[in-house]
Amino acid sequence: ESLDQGLQKTKEGFLSKISKAIVGKSTVDEEVLDNLEEALVSADVGVDTTVRIINRIEERVARDKYLNTSELNRMLQEEIQDILVDAPNGSNYTFDSELPAKPYIILVVGVNGVGKTTTIGKLAHNFKKAGKSVLLGAADTFRAAAVDQLTIWSERVGVPIIKQAMGSDPAAVAFDTAQSAVSRQCDVVLIDTAGRLHNKIHLMDELNKIKRVIQKVIPDAPHEVLLVLDGSTGQNALEQAKHFTAATDVTAMAVTKLDGTAKGGVVLAIADQFKIPVKFIGVGEKAEDLLIFDKHEFVDSLFS
Ligand code: GDP
Repeated sequence: ESLDQGLQKTKEGFLSKISKAIVGKSTVDEEVLDNLEEALVSADVGVDTTVRIINRIEERVARDKYLNTSELNRMLQEEIQDILVDAPNGSNYTFDSELPAKPYIILVVGVNGVGKTTTIGKLAHNFKKAGKSVLLGAADTFRAAAVDQLTIWSERVGVPIIKQAMGSDPAAVAFDTAQSAVSRQCDVVLIDTAGRLHNKIHLMDELNKIKRVIQKVIPDAPHEVLLVLDGSTGQNALEQAKHFTAATDVTAMAVTKLDGTAKGGVVLAIADQFKIPVKFIGVGEKAEDLLIFDKHEFVDSLFS
């Protein structure tokens, strides 16, 4: 799916809420701003990011008291773009670009059910399509379904997978995967991890252990820690991002399931609040339904 199609529900919700906020008004007054604030929060833009946007619009309104509401959409779009200026962009990333290390190890983290396995499958597909050799590591050994799902993706995409019996040590699988990647001279390695968030210390220990064993094989790895978040859970995704960024050094994020939800505004909150690039967005279940996130395209698409 394309970005516009994938964001259809978010766009409809977003635009209808904004137009409700300004209906029947000819100038931007307190009431319009209050309604607008409510519209942004309910579109899951997040309280902090919404307040920053509203404050900036208030400043502009103070300068120009007779501001027309039909200009508000454009202004809102500009302010959102402006607020995102400091947010790192994922878009300078392409699957074709040369990777800074070989093998390039990506550790994929996130809570169960967010679309972690699917995102790994989609990434494998895209890297392979770009001519790179890919290896998968099934280090989520706690759920048989996770290993099965990843195996299905490895067959579908046509890339090898390293796995062990259910319940084996995730770090052992990660170690095997790293060794195998070196001996096979793979370009990209995607390692799935268990997403148990019931205990922060536990999560931290487990991820650290996985990192340490990978480093026994490749000292500067993992080169990337990709956090997968389910965009359809709105503010929950923000909470998970807080937990994971506190537990480990997350270097990039992927936000999934933006097709079926009106809560896509959460991507703006995530991009704004964590100074970690949102690199990918998921807009469907198929291998092709992974897009490289571009904050400007995203905002343009919300308003078009
Ligand atoms: P995991 O437990 O985090 O590994 O989650 P899975 O990858 O198994 O995904 C859980 C469910 O979400 C599956 O049914 C996927 O097909 C679905 N899914 C994953 N990503 C997307 C997406 O971007 N859009 C939609 N609509 N469904 C998705």
